[in-house]
Amino acid sequence: MDSLFSQLIESTGEDLDREGLVKTPQRAAEAFRYLTRGYSQSLEDVINDAIFTSDNDEMVVVKNIELYSLCEHHVLPFFGRCHVGYIPSGRILGLSKVARVVDVFARRLQVQENLTYQIACALKESIGAQGVGVVIEAQHMCMMMRGVEKQNSVMKTSAMLGTFRDSSSTRMEFMSLIAD
Ligand code: ZN
Repeated sequence: MDSLFSQLIESTGEDLDREGLVKTPQRAAEAFRYLTRGYSQSLEDVINDAIFTSDNDEMVVVKNIELYSLCEHHVLPFFGRCHVGYIPSGRILGLSKVARVVDVFARRLQVQENLTYQIACALKESIGAQGVGVVIEAQHMCMMMRGVEKQNSVMKTSAMLGTFRDSSSTRMEFMSLIAD
């Protein structure tokens, strides 16, 4: 992958032999591999048996999970916060694992809508929750640095599954718990 970044940088007319750029292809390739590491992670590995039985059937909410991803249209970052809620059905997930699940899907080339839905489905399937809600608020560099150059727009997406979709009071409870 180093040589691909060399070609990319050279295509701008830059001199790859100048001091600041000598190691850049190598560093950029390493960074890119890191930012797309979700492709080499499986949900099972990440959850790693951190599923526990519980009688609790009240809503569990984890809010403000930091999120960094790359938009699949421009390969530019989008970043923001992810809020996750679920109602267990006999099984709960270790808290840090919720954030790890978010990262498995965020560290790929993504569109925010699909990312939101994939996180919700993964959580629902892994613990068989009665319902799952995921909300992502993010800013997209492809809108901020190029194109319409809108600096302050925030894109908000949500995915509601199971009871979160069927019951408006469940959905309302979730939305009020994640509100600032
Ligand atoms: Zn984009």
